[in-house]
Amino acid sequence: MRVLRKMMALRNTADAIVIGGGIHGCSAALHLVLRKLSVIVLEKDYVGCHASGVNAGGVRRLGRDFTELPLAQAAWEMWQDMPALVDDDCGYRQSRYLKVARNDVQLEAARARVAELNRRGFTHEEVIDRHILRRLLPACGSHCLGALHVEGDGAALPFRTTQAFKRRAEVLGAYFSEQTPVNRVTRRKSLWHVTTPCGNFEAPVLINAAGAWGGNFAKKVGDDIPLEAHAPMLVSTQSLPAFAEPIVGALGAALSFKQFPNGTVLIGGGVCGEAFPSENRTRLDIAGLERVLNTARDIFPIISKAQVNRAWAGIEGYTPDQLPVIGRGGAPGILHAFGFSAHGFQLAPAVGGVVAALVMDETPNLSLHSFSPDRFSSSK
Ligand SMILES: Cc1cc2nc3c(=O)[nH]c(=O)nc-3n(C[C@H](O)[C@H](O)[C@H](O)COP(=O)(O)OP(=O)(O)OC[C@H]3O[C@@H](n4cnc5c(N)ncnc54)[C@H](O)[C@@H]3O)c2cc1C
Repeated sequence: MRVLRKMMALRNTADAIVIGGGIHGCSAALHLVLRKLSVIVLEKDYVGCHASGVNAGGVRRLGRDFTELPLAQAAWEMWQDMPALVDDDCGYRQSRYLKVARNDVQLEAARARVAELNRRGFTHEEVIDRHILRRLLPACGSHCLGALHVEGDGAALPFRTTQAFKRRAEVLGAYFSEQTPVNRVTRRKSLWHVTTPCGNFEAPVLINAAGAWGGNFAKKVGDDIPLEAHAPMLVSTQSLPAFAEPIVGALGAALSFKQFPNGTVLIGGGVCGEAFPSENRTRLDIAGLERVLNTARDIFPIISKAQVNRAWAGIEGYTPDQLPVIGRGGAPGILHAFGFSAHGFQLAPAVGGVVAALVMDETPNLSLHSFSPDRFSSSK
């Protein structure tokens, strides 16, 4: 991929233009400026206003698809020293992550997963029995039989993290234009010409980090990549006495659960409301939220006493296999990094590095085979 190594004379030309100021667009921009390339980020709303700013902040390797784990592990290592990358700890706290088993079938499936992980060389997950579970989570119900457990996974503050990536990229020279929706792109004389209501921009490289809107943008540059928009939901409760230090999920049910130091509890786990990406709008599914709350109450009876203070949803892009799309598009100079299917926050520090390597025409040190943009095409 040809890269124009030049300083930006004007703020409308650059070595690369990133479409989308979510955490993936900001991370790509940061890694590009770290490599001394000039970058423009175009964001239709404001940086971090969609999934990247409103998610649960889970920095989780537990339960990931096997093919995503090398990327998640690389990202996890970067999370351990975020100040080195973005000059801010992003509110990241290391903890432990548990997925609780409430029957033998779930426990057996957890054992099979750990055996397969070990066979593939990953040793971060283990199965713990009911006694260790009770020691780690004294408040869980007596019917909980054990758990899949990872020591060292944790959580961060999502909006703060996304802003930290933006700030660091800006300090190093990236130019962000918010309220700048990309409407049209055309390629002429080895450059992509990008049309927005705030003016036109040009670069040899375009990075599609448009989140749930990434499938639409891919179509504009000739790539047909299936993507559905859904709206993962979260609720936050009133403060409760401290009862859960680890982050908790459930095997066999959608649940992700964490208690903050102020006692409030964040509950979600992938249950979705309706997303209307063209209107920037979501609609909560109250019955779905009630199901997640019931799972939380079943594991932690103390939750039954908690009042829900707030509920919200974010717009997220899901691919058919729930793995992200990361790699080159069909046209010259196009790179895609979208479709993170509700688990992209944790991956962002590493994905930006991979995208920057692709821009530089290097072979990334991680296999991107499972994330290939053309994996859904009928000719494959
Ligand atoms: C409620 C919820 C909880 C979640 N919990 C977790 C979790 O605990 N852990 C985890 O790892 N992941 C989690 N996720 C998933 C994670 O938030 C996403 O995978 C990640 O934020 C995706 O980042 P992104 O940059 O690809 O997308 P986004 O944050 O959506 O950013 C894309 C940006 O592109 C912009 N854009 C789109 N089209 C255009 C255009 N034409 N012109 C200009 N700009 C455009 C959009 O406005 C948007 O700001 C959760 C998601 C949600 C919604």
